[in-house]
Amino acid sequence: MIRQGKLLEVQDLQKNYGKSNNITKALNGVSFDILPGEFLGIMGPSGSGKTTLLNCIATIIKPTSGRVLLNNKNISAFDSTALAEYRGRRIGYLFQDFALLDNLTGRENILLPLSIHRMDVVKARAKLDELANFLEITDILNKFPSQMSGGQKQRVAAARSLIAEPEIILADEPTGALDTRSAKLLMNKLKGMNEASDRTILMVSHDPNATSFCSRILFIQDGVIFHELRRKYDESRENYYERILQLMAQFGGGSANVL
Ligand code: ADP
Ligand code: MG
Repeated sequence: MIRQGKLLEVQDLQKNYGKSNNITKALNGVSFDILPGEFLGIMGPSGSGKTTLLNCIATIIKPTSGRVLLNNKNISAFDSTALAEYRGRRIGYLFQDFALLDNLTGRENILLPLSIHRMDVVKARAKLDELANFLEITDILNKFPSQMSGGQKQRVAAARSLIAEPEIILADEPTGALDTRSAKLLMNKLKGMNEASDRTILMVSHDPNATSFCSRILFIQDGVIFHELRRKYDESRENYYERILQLMAQFGGGSANVL
């Protein structure tokens, strides 16, 4: 269900890397809004600025110019308390490469954000059990990352990004390292999370299978958003997937390496 009002507003975001004689314009004026409860996808080829965009929203990097507003408030103007609250509780970041710590078990990895953000232990344990059950990782909680499959690692990483019950989930190519079956399982879980608990998700990906789970998709290339695709009311995911493929073929100029 989509409620009224904008949750997140991205306004004319620009990000340059490097110095004057060797500048990469990773984001070249990106603007869009996210409504509460949306599952928004951003699709683009490798190097189009997707990770840079998520990192700006997550305050991992500073944009060169432009603003990100959360409930009408500029996140770059947050004081340290508001910033810690934003990073720790409002957003959950699902990294492309899992970013699990090798010397911690699955359980310890998942609970790590809570020890940093000092959450209630009893509540955390209950939440962990619920998440592990939902993500089907209960059996591997005592294993170390090296003992897990890619799909299991990604779902442990998903549990970690969700343990603090963030309002907004930022996901960077969450299916990038997964086989088809694990990818579909994870996407169904994310979709379930979005529908059941009204969690807002912003996912970047170049995978049409993954983005076909989104309610809306923005297309990005060379740091600019150039198209939007909405899943129609009652449209099947298969049909939406076909429309995404058609767009990719159209914009990709017929190359094998479309978006
Ligand atoms: P994507 O996630 O879509 O693959 P990125 O946001 O990672 O794209 O990168 C966008 C562009 O910015 C690319 O040209 C990339 O090489 C460049 N880039 C990304 N991170 C850095 C960095 N830390 N320093 C310099 N250039 C970077
Ligand atoms: Mg990336």
